[in-house]
Amino acid sequence: MSELRFECTQCGRCCRNNGEFAHVYLNDRESDALAEHLGLDLVAFLERHTFVDEYGWTQLRTTGARCVFLDVDTNQCGVYEARPTQCRTFPFWRETVRDGAWTPEVREICEGVGRGRLYSIEEVEVQMRAMEQAED
Ligand code: SF4
Ligand code: SF4
Repeated sequence: MSELRFECTQCGRCCRNNGEFAHVYLNDRESDALAEHLGLDLVAFLERHTFVDEYGWTQLRTTGARCVFLDVDTNQCGVYEARPTQCRTFPFWRETVRDGAWTPEVREICEGVGRGRLYSIEEVEVQMRAMEQAED
């Protein structure tokens, strides 16, 4: 893998429905963290903000083709401190990097890839592993 450039412009596109990137999955730890952050008990959080898909995975709900927690006026995440790992690690996912370069699919969604600071192989790997651990 080569090194990759990235700088988030806060455009908010990754928090809106974007085909294969439309889904925000939650593991149990992430659901607990979000519930606590919002001051809800877990059951109330799950009922209000998530659904279980046809494969049994828990996902964040969307509203108006965007994540329920995206503030449309500011493009800010309303649960930033407790956001799921997939949000923390985007765009450094195994499926967004191919042959050491950003894929065309992620380039289409994220205007921050290919610009800004150069991330070392080690930094990219840390993000990718965090994402994989969240999926376990
Ligand atoms: S939880 Fe926050 S960062 Fe993740 S998709 Fe929703 S608004 Fe975006
Ligand atoms: S799409 Fe990319 S540049 Fe835009 S908010 Fe998401 S990570 Fe940042």
